[in-house]
Amino acid sequence: MLPLSVALKLNDLISFDRNRLSDSQKHLPQGRVISKAECEKLIPGLTIDGLTGAAVFYDAQMYNSERLTLAFLHSAVEAGANISNYTKVTGFLQDKNRITGVKVTDVFTGNCFEIQAKTVINTSGPWVNSVLGLVQPQPDVHQMGLAQAMNVITRPLFKDYAVGLPGKGRFWFVSPWRGKSMIGTWQGVEAQHPDEFQISEASIQGFINEINEAYPPAKLTREDVLFVHQGQLPYKGIDPKTGEPKMLKQYQIRDFAQEGLPGLISVVGVKYTTARDVAQKTIDQVFKSWGQTSPPSVSAKTPLYGGEIADFSAFLRREITTKQSEGFPEETIRSLVYNYGSVYEDVLGYLKKFPQPSSSDDAVLKAQVLYAVDCEMAQTLSDVVFRRTELGSAGELEQSSVQLCAETMANLLNWSQTKLQQELQQVWKINEHHTPILSGV
Ligand SMILES: Cc1cc2nc3c(=O)[nH]c(=O)nc-3n(C[C@H](O)[C@H](O)[C@H](O)COP(=O)(O)OP(=O)(O)OC[C@H]3O[C@@H](n4cnc5c(N)ncnc54)[C@H](O)[C@@H]3O)c2cc1C
Repeated sequence: MLPLSVALKLNDLISFDRNRLSDSQKHLPQGRVISKAECEKLIPGLTIDGLTGAAVFYDAQMYNSERLTLAFLHSAVEAGANISNYTKVTGFLQDKNRITGVKVTDVFTGNCFEIQAKTVINTSGPWVNSVLGLVQPQPDVHQMGLAQAMNVITRPLFKDYAVGLPGKGRFWFVSPWRGKSMIGTWQGVEAQHPDEFQISEASIQGFINEINEAYPPAKLTREDVLFVHQGQLPYKGIDPKTGEPKMLKQYQIRDFAQEGLPGLISVVGVKYTTARDVAQKTIDQVFKSWGQTSPPSVSAKTPLYGGEIADFSAFLRREITTKQSEGFPEETIRSLVYNYGSVYEDVLGYLKKFPQPSSSDDAVLKAQVLYAVDCEMAQTLSDVVFRRTELGSAGELEQSSVQLCAETMANLLNWSQTKLQQELQQVWKINEHHTPILSGV
């Protein structure tokens, strides 16, 4: 147990400043080592050879990564950025070898236009190679290897804890997720272009088997998997000992001026949780490429859009009490505050536009759809179901809610019956395969 105690102490040392925020709800307590008996009480049915005890430690979990991404975009717009959705980069503007902008295509209309830029930053994730492939002449650079990754959402395995279970060569983390469990992250290698990428049924079944081996009482079957989050992540090669992909551990910021292509910078991120820091370093690199020093970054101390809340519990309690007196159920307000933060009333503001304003769940869902289309560039039903609202976040979609969203969007965007049916089919297809791709906004 000594190594675990040392690891926990090291963790406390490295994260010594983790509780600097004034909101005590965001503070993480110190970890502790527990005995074998206590461990077996918390996780009944463990069959780990030579188990002597375990460590309990604390970490944070994003409530909704899609909505957090939208908060970044709202904040960028507030700070003066221009953003667009469904505009695909299809080429580069070049003055000889200098990159001077991008050619883009509107995915829905096919219209093409150009965007001039002093510097272009390629942040296309798994598409980093294909976007670089649009540059002429082709830079002689190493192509980023892409591994597959997935998390599965299953019936709940544990109630109050996230549990790390040792598997073959890797820990499986079973985290609480919307009353269910999220288990991952599985990684594998199979060469696939990101446009065609799809986790195979065999991989999902293989992962289920590995979880059952690590924790036999789980007895998971394919039917217990309610949803699969999947995506591609950069990797460096295969570990000859385990046969597992060796994932890229460190972000990469590459200024192509070194390759004779000034005006182009590529960024490959490896973790969402480090994105703010990587963005800061990228901006530093942009200024450096202009021969300037970047202004001091304020992003580490500036709350994101919707994050202006000094004390989350107090805020939530106050909003629930106020809105209950207006007829809104507690759960509705809790869910809105968790998803939209301090700006949740912007969503409720849409209720006033209805002929008969109401506080029913259907009315609030319709308001969320209107907000998503009006303020968050939602264009498809999948956008609304999987990337704007919480509806599709744990599988088990409710037919009536999806239908309500579809009809609301159809009215707003003048969809024909055929278009409405196509949008519905697309959502059910994703849900049926339980596999939304972790990319795109
Ligand atoms: C299953 C799974 C679990 C994960 N778990 C965690 C975790 O627990 N913690 C963590 O920190 N990270 C986690 N990650 C990693 C995290 O999701 C990625 O590091 C992060 O999404 C990378 O962000 P990005 O913006 O670089 O790329 P992406 O999120 O892939 O975004 C790239 C964007 O570029 C767009 N694009 C591509 N081509 C073009 C083009 N030609 N024109 C215009 N746009 C284009 C795409 O549509 C996409 O929106 C996980 C990833 C997976 C797959």
